This record gives sequence, C-alpha cells and structure tokens, in this order.
Amino acid sequence: MEGEFVVKKLLFVLSLLMTFVIMSTVPHVQAMDEIPSEVKLFKNVNIFDGKSDKLLMGYDVLVVRNLIKKIARDIPTSATYDVDVTIGGEKKVQVLSGYDSNTYTIYVKDGEAKTEKKQVKVNVIDCGSRTLMPGLIEGHGHLQMNGVSLADIENNRNWEELAVRSAAKAKMALMSGFTTWRDMGGMSAGLKKSIDAGVVDGPRIYPSGAFIGPTGSHADFRNFTTPNETVYGCNSAGSRLGMTFTADSTDMIKVGARQNFMQGATQIKIMSSGGVASAFDPWQLDAYSAEEIRAAVEVAEAYGSYVASHAYSKKSILRCLNNGVKTIEHGFMFDGDIAKLMKKKDAYMTTNIHAFSPYLGEIEAIKSSPASARKAESAQAAFKNYIENVKKYQPKFGFQADCVGGIDSCKKQTDHEIYLSAKLLGNFYTLKSITSVNGEIVALSGDVLNPYFEGPLGVVEEGAYADILLVDGNPLEDITVIGGSEKWFDASPRDGIDTIRIIMKDGKIYKNSL
Ligand SMILES: [Zn+2]
Repeated sequence: MEGEFVVKKLLFVLSLLMTFVIMSTVPHVQAMDEIPSEVKLFKNVNIFDGKSDKLLMGYDVLVVRNLIKKIARDIPTSATYDVDVTIGGEKKVQVLSGYDSNTYTIYVKDGEAKTEKKQVKVNVIDCGSRTLMPGLIEGHGHLQMNGVSLADIENNRNWEELAVRSAAKAKMALMSGFTTWRDMGGMSAGLKKSIDAGVVDGPRIYPSGAFIGPTGSHADFRNFTTPNETVYGCNSAGSRLGMTFTADSTDMIKVGARQNFMQGATQIKIMSSGGVASAFDPWQLDAYSAEEIRAAVEVAEAYGSYVASHAYSKKSILRCLNNGVKTIEHGFMFDGDIAKLMKKKDAYMTTNIHAFSPYLGEIEAIKSSPASARKAESAQAAFKNYIENVKKYQPKFGFQADCVGGIDSCKKQTDHEIYLSAKLLGNFYTLKSITSVNGEIVALSGDVLNPYFEGPLGVVEEGAYADILLVDGNPLEDITVIGGSEKWFDASPRDGIDTIRIIMKDGKIYKNSL
C-alpha cells in the first residue's frame, strides 16, 4: 500500500514536469520543484572529454541543474537567461519499490506539451584555460571493507565501525575527484542510499552486495575452524554483515544473486577463481564451473543486469566469457585468445595495475601472511606478459584501484594506481579507463536497475551528467595533476589534491579552490 502511495505521489510530481530550452538548445526534462535558481557557466576551459586524446581548446561549458547543457565557444555571460519551460510529454523516471533500497525506471505519459518562459541567473566561473574533464570513476573498489586484511575485518570490525569508516572513505573518494564508484563486493547499498539522500557526501555508488563464491574461495573470510556455512548456516562476520555469501551449488548461487538484487545491488560479483590476499585459495583455483557461472548470469540477466567475475587464470576467464560474464575483474592471464573472445562477447576487463608495482609486497595483507607473500610472488611471475598483451590487443579496459582498507592507505594506493597505470599503459589509455570506459561499464547495470539514467557518466558532452573536475595543467601530459604518485606506502599523507581545483557532482560544487 505504501509503495502504491509513493508511485501516486511521484505521478503527481510528474504532472508538473517541465522541459528547459536554453537559447534554443536541446530540451531537457525537469521537475518543477527542482528548477535551478541559477545555471553555472564554466568559462574558458580546455576539455578532456573522456574519449579523445586531444584537448578541445578554448570552450565554455554550461551546466543546468545536474546535466551538461551546452558546450560551445563564447556562450554569453549575461546576468539572466531566458528559459523556455515545457510541461508534459512522455517521461522516463525512477520510482522507489515498496522497500526503498531499490529503485526502478519506468516510462510515464504526461499529457500535451505546453511551453512558457522563465528567467534564471547565470553563475560564471572564470576557469583561466584550465582543463575541464569528467569526474573520475572507480571501476572496482570496496567502500565498506575497512580493515588491513580480510581476517582483520572478520575478527575486529563490527557494523558500526564499518559504517562510520565507510562514510568517511566515501567522502575521501569524492574529495579525491571520484564522482562515481562501482563497488565490487562487501555491501554499500545502504551507503549509496545515504549519499543519494544527502546524509553524507560521497560518489554515486553502483553496489554489488555480498561477494558470491564457494567454500574456501576468495569470498570465504572465515577463520580456519568456523563451521561450513553451506551446511551449518551463517557463521562468519562476513556473511552476517552481508559482505560475503557462500554458495556451493547453482541453486545457492541463485539465492545469493537474488538476495543481493533484493537489497539494492545493481550488478552481481562472483569469485570464479582464487586470489592472492585471501587465506584458503590458491590463485590458480578454478572455483566455479560453467553451470555455476551460468546460474549467476541467468539471475542477473533476469534483472536486465550483468555479472562481474574475479578471474585470474586463463581457464576461468575464458569460461566466464563463454558463459555470459560481462566484466572480467583483474584478468591477469589476459592474452590473444582472451582478447579475441572479449571482442566477440563485447566484454570488458578491469585490472589493478599495482599488482605489477615493485612495492606490492608492502601491502599489509601480503606482508603479514607468508602464504599470501608466496602467492604474490608466483602470481607476479605468471602474469609477466600482461602489460605487453594489453598494449598489443587494447581491450576495453576499466581502471580499478581495488582498495581494501582505511582512508589513508586507500588514498595512497589509488594515487599509485593512477601513476603506474599511466606509466605502463599510457596517460590517455588510463584517463579513458578512469572516465568513459568505466562510464560504459557502470551502464551495463541496464535500463531498469541503473540508478543514474538521466545521461551518460564519464564523459564531457551535451546531455551528460554534470560530474566535472577542473584541474591545473593537462592530465594527458602529466598524470600527477589528478593525483598520480610514484610513491606508494612512503607517500606523504594528503587531504585533497591541490591541482584538482573544482569538484562537481550532479551539478553541485563540492570543492572550489579557484
Ligand atoms: Zn576487489
């Protein structure tokens, strides 16, 4: 009943929906209660649009409400703009389900279109030929996982501490320039809801919910003697907190995937191979069978979404791709066969390039565990052709820093990831991966579940979300202007990134140091 009321209320709001036409540009749908008191004009910028390896020199960018409205040279800076407001037409809108963690997208018919004039102020921001670029998108991170290792989270953190730390981490991510975050497991739907409601500051989040993996896999955080969860039920803190879901059969995998979607996931994350920083699984482990992978894919596709899979070994990567997985996470054994199949399946890969850092052994989870250290060593040797193969085959590659840990360690890890990716794969490839490619990846969550459907993310173009950074210098030539750092663990602590002068998300300015 309450759900029905919510829908009716939204339909009432929709009856007031209006379309802005500024200076004869393309119309844009707008709710009446959100008419901006002013529009924002970035004057005199060079644009990295997320896709091109050349800056567009000497442009202006107009933002109306939360979208990029117009990109042109010499947009007038007069004090007020006449805005044509159109009421009516068919609208694509998001509604809440009965349980408000979830949202769904629907089309609503709204009568005949009528147009009237409104006046709004223009706020001119003189950018002095700085670079304007899309807000950064983390392609694979873990906001709720706040511990030095999986065992630390399992043994030492309760929900309260995790919640407080994850809120602070989300704010840090936004203030480091990340306006969108694909969370690849370990809760975050509640955090997303709180950020969207304006309770705390943070990026847009695409939650995956609990990692789904079999007993003894990279998703199994239990202590050595904790009874098996498939047989004895929910025993570990990881599963009680909703971070992990142990599933040893196709039926259980479907339960896990459905449970995640019920709780607000936008895609599903499975662990189809072993990993390095976990206790029981060799990285070579071929954890899920073809049938098991297909079970997760079947549920995700029923929601119009997709499955992302943690996969290191070639066998596991190929099996994932052949059974419908859309994004390969890590994918260290990437080669020509995988490249060919990825192309055929229109699939993506995100990889944490810091796996190739000379400082990798300093990660606490590796340093504190001789078994993980040995795994890391053998993995680095086995993955030696990765960089060369990526350069050769140029797959659709998304940036990821894969940070598990506290605020300070995640800042350092992300800064180093940006630097190393640019050094090994090039500035443009890295910048594309952290903007437009990750924008394409998050949109794989589909027309129904994608919570941010008003425009594309990760690009600067008319109609895109106004998620914008203004930076000193040109990141295509100098990756340090968006935070890239050669140092990792011995980097100095930092607050924000001084060369990022403006951070805008959804049309709202969170930082302006001009
Ligand atoms: Zn991860």
